[in-house]
Amino acid sequence: MSQAHESHQGPWTTLKLLGWTTQFFESKGIDTARLDAELLLATAMGCRRIELYARYDDVPPPDALARFRQWVKQRGQRVPAKYLIGETEFYSLSLAVTPSVLIPRPETELLVERALQALPEGQDALVADLGTGSGAVAIALASQRPQARVLAVDASVEALELARVNAQRHQLAERITFLHGNWFDALSDGVTCDVVVSNPPYVARAELAATMPEVREHEPRLALDGGDDGLDALRVIVAGAPAWLKPGGWLFVEIGASQGPAVRQLAEQTGDYETVDVSPDFQGLDRIVSMQKKA
Ligand code: GLN
Repeated sequence: MSQAHESHQGPWTTLKLLGWTTQFFESKGIDTARLDAELLLATAMGCRRIELYARYDDVPPPDALARFRQWVKQRGQRVPAKYLIGETEFYSLSLAVTPSVLIPRPETELLVERALQALPEGQDALVADLGTGSGAVAIALASQRPQARVLAVDASVEALELARVNAQRHQLAERITFLHGNWFDALSDGVTCDVVVSNPPYVARAELAATMPEVREHEPRLALDGGDDGLDALRVIVAGAPAWLKPGGWLFVEIGASQGPAVRQLAEQTGDYETVDVSPDFQGLDRIVSMQKKA
C-alpha cells in the first residue's frame, strides 16, 4: 500500500485497500481486522461503512488515502479504532471519545437498562453517575428520562470536558451537572439520589497485564485499575451509596465476571440494602449488581 496509486496490479481501489489492510491487521493479531479496515476506510472517505460495498472500484482521493494510511499504521500498533476516528456509539447515541476516556462497551448498556427500570417515566429524579468518563451512561439516562437530572462525576478533568461536549451534542447539558472529584466526595452535602450508577475501574491490577494491548496500552488506567483484587472502587461505592440514596433508592454497578459473590458480600455487610441482585451480560457472565436501599 505504500506504493504509488498505480502499481503493476493497478490502482488502489477500495476493494484492494480493504483486502490488504485486513491481512495487515490480521498479521498484527487484531481479531476485528476486516471490520476495522472498513470502519477506518469509510471514515477516511467520509462515507458510511455499508456504502463501501457500492464503491469497491473507486480510488479514494489522495487526502482520504493519506488519512487512512496514517490510521492503518496506528491501528497496527493496536491503537483502538474508535480513538482513531474519535467517535463511538452507545445506546444509539453518537459520542466523541479520546484516550482520556474508556471506550464505552456494549455490556454497559445493560447498566443503563437496569437503571431505567428504577426510573419511572414522567417522574422527576436525581441520578448520580460515578466515573462518567465519556458521559455515556449519564447521557443515555438523561436522554431516556427527560425529567431526570444527572450528576456526572469524574476524577479526570479531561474526561469531564469530553462528557460535557457529548452532552451538548445531544442537547442534554442543561440537565447534567459535571462534578470533579472522587466518587461521593464530589457531591454536595445533603444531596440524596433516587439512583446511583457506576461503571468503576474493576480490573484486578495483575489481570490488567493480560488484557488486550488496545486496553492495557491505550485506554486510561484510571478507568480500569481496580487495585489488587479489582474491588477498591466498588468497596467505596457500595459502602458509601446508602448515605447518598433516598430510602428505597437504587445503586447499580458494573462488575468483573468473577466479582459477583464478593460484591454481594460487600452489599450485605452494610446492612443497608433490602435486595441485592447479580445479573449476567449477553455472554452469561456476571456483569451488573443492583442494590435497593431499605425503605
Ligand atoms: N470491561 C472493561 C474491560 O474489559 C473494564 C471496564 C472497567 O474496569 N470498568 O476492559
